[in-house]
Amino acid sequence: MIEFDDFTCYYKLKKGYGVALDKISLTVGDGEKVAVVGPSGSGKTTLLKCILDSVQYTEGSLTIDGTEARKYDKRKNGLAYVSQEYVLYPKMTVFQNIAYPLMASGMSFGQTEELVTDIAKRFGLFRLLTRKPKQLSGGQQQAVAIARALVKKPAIALFDEPLSNLDPLRREKFRKIIVDICDKNGSTVIYVTHDPEEACYVADKIVVLEEGEIKGVMSSKEYARALEEYKSTSAAAYGGEEQGADGESGDGED
Ligand code: ADP
Ligand code: MG
Repeated sequence: MIEFDDFTCYYKLKKGYGVALDKISLTVGDGEKVAVVGPSGSGKTTLLKCILDSVQYTEGSLTIDGTEARKYDKRKNGLAYVSQEYVLYPKMTVFQNIAYPLMASGMSFGQTEELVTDIAKRFGLFRLLTRKPKQLSGGQQQAVAIARALVKKPAIALFDEPLSNLDPLRREKFRKIIVDICDKNGSTVIYVTHDPEEACYVADKIVVLEEGEIKGVMSSKEYARALEEYKSTSAAAYGGEEQGADGESGDGED
């Protein structure tokens, strides 16, 4: 279980401090899948980085299974993170990249090979296993990063916009695979996305962040309903007016 209690995170700026997360309280239960949505700069990435303990200035409490996040043994307990930048090891092949967390944990080569082959097939990477990252497209690299995170069957999986570089078709296919694997492994998932539909598909619970504050926590069903209502009211509002020069209504997020 991951628990934020009145938790604040600051960044040091040239002049003073900027608050990235402002007194948030949130509980993510074991095996629960939570999506974090919100505009760019709202603190989504910071929320994940706090769980990874890669931020400097915090206040309040953040615990994982009752242990302070700073003291939680991430390696031993299996915490996986797919960052927005999905950094791969450039000199290693796709196989070695995916195998790395398993070999590092002391797994035998035979067992590692089996797990890597299996997950590579699921993500359409099987025939690319001998390539180096720079010989792959952005989408394929992202798939390697996801496969590397999931291959070790982590207790906690953190995803930061993991499908941003993929075309819509593969995005839909991959989110299914991610959910399927995480469900099978019983992983606790925190999934950052700015795509509301993806959030509803992936998660049981949606957290809406805005300017570092939690503006709402709801089930994905409630969130989907709220989105529908919002769409129909704004469509009605637009419909009531004269046709403008352009029909665009996007928020221009991220
Ligand atoms: P999101 O992922 O939702 O786009 P972030 O968590 O990256 O948002 O950022 C939240 C806020 O914290 C933003 O105002 C951002 O400018 C600020 N911020 C993020 N990282 C740093 C940093 N390393 N130093 C200073 N400010 C930062
Ligand atoms: Mg971010």
